Amino acid sequence: MNDKRASHGFRLTLAMLACVGAATLAGCNGGGDAHAQGRKGGEATAWGLPYFNMPDIVPPNVRQDAYTPLTDAQAGPPIDPIKGYRTEDLGGGVYMVGDGIYNTMFVVSDAGVILVDAPPSMGEKTLNAIQQVAPGSKIVALIYSHAHIDHIGFAAGVVKAFPGIPIYAHEETRKALAQANDPNRPVPTNTFNTLDVDFPVVVGNQKLVLRYPGPNHDPGNIGIYHPGQKVLMLVDVVYPGWMMWRRLGLATNIPGYFGLVKSMNARWDFDKLIAGHFQPGTKADVETQLEFMTDMHNALTEAISTIPYSDGRLNAADTKNSWAATRDWTDRLTNHCVNKVTPKWSTRLASFDVWIYEQCMALEQSIRIDGPSLR
Ligand SMILES: [Zn+2]
Repeated sequence: MNDKRASHGFRLTLAMLACVGAATLAGCNGGGDAHAQGRKGGEATAWGLPYFNMPDIVPPNVRQDAYTPLTDAQAGPPIDPIKGYRTEDLGGGVYMVGDGIYNTMFVVSDAGVILVDAPPSMGEKTLNAIQQVAPGSKIVALIYSHAHIDHIGFAAGVVKAFPGIPIYAHEETRKALAQANDPNRPVPTNTFNTLDVDFPVVVGNQKLVLRYPGPNHDPGNIGIYHPGQKVLMLVDVVYPGWMMWRRLGLATNIPGYFGLVKSMNARWDFDKLIAGHFQPGTKADVETQLEFMTDMHNALTEAISTIPYSDGRLNAADTKNSWAATRDWTDRLTNHCVNKVTPKWSTRLASFDVWIYEQCMALEQSIRIDGPSLR
């Protein structure tokens, strides 16, 4: 880094720290004094004047020394450092296996094991977990929740260990994987192309029911349901106890994603949710995330209808730069959303302060482009 850039970064950090430390002062938290303070301190002038009502949380792309610590409950049960995974017996031959960050499900039948997903971060650990529960057993079927590498990137490793097994997925997932042409993610062999219709996978004395609820996190992302134990695996939609992954879990269809969170408790009769990340959840976790998303949606709907396109602080030279002016406006919409939801949610969701700007930003863009997700 050259000296000039380093110097700018340092000055911004000082300005940010001053504002964080003085969050309740008008100079940092809104009002005309912010304008005066920015100039008086001289710190903000390198990059311009800060927005009015800047949230206390450090914005994206600015380094934060420490985020809000996780509680023990949020961090989850300890993982054996030797094994590197934890297995949870959900009864009836259904198991969750996770490394604390990723998780997946396998079902032991009298004719072999059904495995759902194969996260590459866990790799062989998933196979070890199965052997520990059912020594000498074979995987006889693999199911893909969706096409993303971080959940099925070890699929080729599973097929190598158990050649010729069928791979089940929705047709949209097959299309995505055919396009990806990734040797680590073999194209599924058994697909279905229905919408909201149960597709049973029966192996020995076990049955799983696959169902595609429409475009959501990813086209083809399905629910995998075990009716006997009322266990639902639905990946990258709800994050039990945690803030969603950045930008609404990178949902490719935000209205569809919102609609699925809103409807999934009615759509499936489940007691346990295996969500692909962290610890298993329940319907209560779905309700919590829906409440959080609804609060963001309400804050943004309010912001879009009440916050003026210009607050009079845009550099005069930028007023003909429509993208700069729109960024200025949408930054202020995002800031309003962050300010609105922080008091209620900052201690309720693990990692809230890591991604809250990105959540508000993604939903703001969707509401303005796709239309409201709540009707
Ligand atoms: Zn995903």
